[in-house]
Amino acid sequence: AQNGGANRVKGFMAEQEDRISREFFLEHELKRALENNELAIFYQPQVSLKDRRIIGMEALIRWHHPEKGLISPQDFIPLLEKTGLIVPVTRWLISTVCNQIRDWHKQGLSMAVSVNLSAEHFDSLDLIKTTKEALDETGIDPHYLGMEITESTVMQDVSGASKILEELAGWGIKVSLDDFGKGYSSLSYLQRLAIDTIKIDRYFIYDIPENSQNITLANTIVTMAHNLGKEVLAEGVETEEQARILRELNCDYAQGFLFGRPQPPDKLSFG
Ligand code: C2E
Ligand code: CA
Ligand code: CA
Ligand code: CA
Repeated sequence: AQNGGANRVKGFMAEQEDRISREFFLEHELKRALENNELAIFYQPQVSLKDRRIIGMEALIRWHHPEKGLISPQDFIPLLEKTGLIVPVTRWLISTVCNQIRDWHKQGLSMAVSVNLSAEHFDSLDLIKTTKEALDETGIDPHYLGMEITESTVMQDVSGASKILEELAGWGIKVSLDDFGKGYSSLSYLQRLAIDTIKIDRYFIYDIPENSQNITLANTIVTMAHNLGKEVLAEGVETEEQARILRELNCDYAQGFLFGRPQPPDKLSFG
């Protein structure tokens, strides 16, 4: 038994070392990726459920690794956050997105684009400065830029986050509460933060219509949001039936594979 314990400790240590060296390697790789422009932005359409018109896009980051191929953001965003590299990455992201919005406008496409924020952005005023510079440089109307936050993003510093969001919202930037219903859900954020749109998490959508409880939940979220003067977007809509049901529940917008997968800008179609 004693030996088994020692082995377990050894195993644990090896695991830790493995994890640390893997992270160390990945961090090094990420720095190189930034220098070599291996990060790309894909765009996924968001549609109005009334007429299926595309009203905007969500910007989703991708890593084209030279050997490993396409790496999912779920696999590297946590490390970007941990190392603080998320700050320069988001600076690049916001500037690229603003340029993309301006290019689409030149083509006659009034497309809004939202970007995802991390908790790290609320630690400093860098986000305000970065956004101001990108808006000034491109001259786009701030109404076309959106920021997506989650409850866990703002939880660590609600008053700091609320000040920064207040400022951005004051310029006309749209704020969405992402992944609503997943993990912590404190309804108090809905009142305390300048939120325009609530995004219902994919988890509550994917098994509609089989799961009638989730239809009830979606219904409740839509009613509550509307009563608070906010709009609602359903994430992860994959079937016509889901779109029909959500439309009947008066859900305003939807996003999901039914309407389009995330694509690089040159592959998007706006039909
Ligand atoms: P999210 O913000 O909840 O983004 C939606 C995710 O759901 C995306 O995954 C999207 O591709 C996926 N999705 C969209 N429609 C469907 C559908 O109909 N069915 C299914 N099964 N999935 C769908 P993706 O692109 O892998 O992004 C994962 C997460 O990574 C995002 O979740 C977001 O939290 C994070 N992320 C992506 N880009 C950024 C970024 O620039 N900054 C930060 N901080 N986080 C990012
Ligand atoms: Ca999002
Ligand atoms: Ca989401
Ligand atoms: Ca989600």
